[in-house]
Amino acid sequence: MLEVRQLDAGYGDVQVLRGVSLDVAEGEIVSMVGANGAGKTTLIRTVMGTLAPMAGEIRFLGERIGGRAAHQIARLGMAQVMEGRRLFGHMGVEDNLRVGGDLLRDARRARDNLEWVYTLFPRLKERRQQLAKSFSGGEQQMLAIGRALMTSPRLLLLDEPSIGLAPIMVKDIFEKLPQISARGITILLVEQDVHRSLSFAQRGYVLEHGEVAMAGPAAALLADEGLRRAYLGV
Ligand code: ATP
Repeated sequence: MLEVRQLDAGYGDVQVLRGVSLDVAEGEIVSMVGANGAGKTTLIRTVMGTLAPMAGEIRFLGERIGGRAAHQIARLGMAQVMEGRRLFGHMGVEDNLRVGGDLLRDARRARDNLEWVYTLFPRLKERRQQLAKSFSGGEQQMLAIGRALMTSPRLLLLDEPSIGLAPIMVKDIFEKLPQISARGITILLVEQDVHRSLSFAQRGYVLEHGEVAMAGPAAALLADEGLRRAYLGV
């Protein structure tokens, strides 16, 4: 579904990603793990089109998307949940979700998605009239994910869903991933929480200083001595 080949990307003269290649097949949950500053956010930005690649190729559903604008890529069925979440704070929960649904231009599907998002995150339904800016970090993350899901994406990109959240909230959010996947949505997430994100993924990649250092089935990565020593402190 997503094929990234030999991708270089960065900012001005600063190259962050070097020759990154990765694949995400339809139906998979794939996790890209790495430390602070490894280039995870830069990867998400480049795939989604908010940052132009310096070199390499990105294909989504067979189409070359490298260098295309984010709104064009979104229309093909990709949605992202950014680190920092970027909600409309002055708007209520339901209005935030409807912004996502409006992009569909299919009222019935939008209604169906709204019901599903409320089933997935009952807390959002309880607080449907509340302003987003008064939300806790975990609730904002749920709302940001909900808004992305409202667009019926084929591929959901999640940028560090655990960041800044209490452990109980992190657990709550990760436990939704199998349910999202069961609705036929493919997931690529980037994370610093190596153990948890690989536990929920089928396959994983380790990004170090902008390069893919390791790749393989998530269970094999979790069992790898080197990875355990470097990232899990064991
Ligand atoms: P974190 O977990 O801290 O978010 P990350 O793996 O997502 O880290 P990136 O945000 O992709 O890493 O950053 C990779 C490198 O690119 C860092 O050295 C960072 O300082 C640099 N960088 C990020 N954004 C910019 C920018 N807008 N301009 C210049 N350099 C940037």
